[in-house]
Amino acid sequence: MIAANNPTLKSWIEVPENSDFPIQNIPFGIIKPKGKEPRPATRIGDTVIDLSALTDFGFFDELEIDNYGIFLAPVLNDFMELGAPIWSAVRHKLSSLFQYDNKELQGNEEAKNICLYNINDVEMMLPVEVGDYTDFYSSIEHATNVGIMFRDPENALLPNWKHIPVGYHGRSSSIVVSGTEIHRPMGQTKTDDANKPSFGPSRLVDFELETAFITGKSSKLGEHITVDETDDYIFGMVLFNDLSARDIQKWEYVPLGPFLSKSFGSVISPWIITMEALKPFMVDGPIQDPPVLPYLKSSGKKNINIKLDVSLTPENGVPTIICNSNYRYMYWNMNQQLAHHTINGCNINVGDMYGSGTISGPTPDSYGSMLELSWKGTKPLTLVDGSERKFILDNDTITMRGYAENDDYRIGFGECVTKILPSK
Ligand code: MN
Repeated sequence: MIAANNPTLKSWIEVPENSDFPIQNIPFGIIKPKGKEPRPATRIGDTVIDLSALTDFGFFDELEIDNYGIFLAPVLNDFMELGAPIWSAVRHKLSSLFQYDNKELQGNEEAKNICLYNINDVEMMLPVEVGDYTDFYSSIEHATNVGIMFRDPENALLPNWKHIPVGYHGRSSSIVVSGTEIHRPMGQTKTDDANKPSFGPSRLVDFELETAFITGKSSKLGEHITVDETDDYIFGMVLFNDLSARDIQKWEYVPLGPFLSKSFGSVISPWIITMEALKPFMVDGPIQDPPVLPYLKSSGKKNINIKLDVSLTPENGVPTIICNSNYRYMYWNMNQQLAHHTINGCNINVGDMYGSGTISGPTPDSYGSMLELSWKGTKPLTLVDGSERKFILDNDTITMRGYAENDDYRIGFGECVTKILPSK
């Protein structure tokens, strides 16, 4: 067992019941305390821990990290670049420092005052400088639903789908952190009965329930990463709301795929949960039939049991949970996605982000987008306040949550919150 994942560990920091952040989590993020510069941090319960301050007090000295400035940086890229053994060493140092019987920091009032904050006293920032962004399309339930709605129920999956982890290159500049408000996009659309396109605010703004993984190691142009090597490259995961304007998408996507319908804002949860912390929750994925080509073959448990839910909250209203899904439904796993991404020799970089694709489950309440939940607007959802939704209205807030859980503890992502404002 990985020592920092030991279920018997307890912290001297209070952890509320059902917290996403027990001492077994140790996520990484960027905080901005009031009046201070952004800096790397981790979180236990509702306490955030300033890693730059821990560095100043010498708590990382024994790790002999080459680049001493990594925890003074406003993003995690330099830390990630140090490689998987250092990610694990830092996580284990933090795990040890915050165990209930460790007095190193616990017994040092001056250091505690400088290193620890309540979560409510800091602003969460984008944790990485995002390089490239790719979005996959790897949920068979989602791809099937979209195929039934827009093409042919008899041939819902396109012929390539079970052979290739289908994806497209997205836009990284508009990836923002949870809490960032997004204006309804303006754009060009054409309804089926119109003979020419019109311009205006999108009428079909949607969320896509996704996770994303972030690479912490780069590869060279011309080289590829095998499925078995991919674990060394994947630093961790976040929740990902891939906002989509369905009416803009429908008109623009032929023949090269999504463009402006996807690039008006994509929102991530602020804490990166490491693959090491998620290890106890690995499960088998669906059987891949027909068998995939040899370069995509993966063995062992490569899916993860992460419960996901989405709620919609109208302005000044109460939340309604509109979707319960799970990451384990994914047909293609992250290792296969990354192996496929690089098989042509495409190089990847530290800080690149890879969306899973909308994560839909087998039942109608587990569909990961309004498009599917309302079945193209034909089955409006009823919220707890009695109002109906086919797509997202102005001033609605979408909140995504995710956590993995076993009999011992829960490892969660926190929230990914997005409010849609009227168009500009
Ligand atoms: Mn997507």
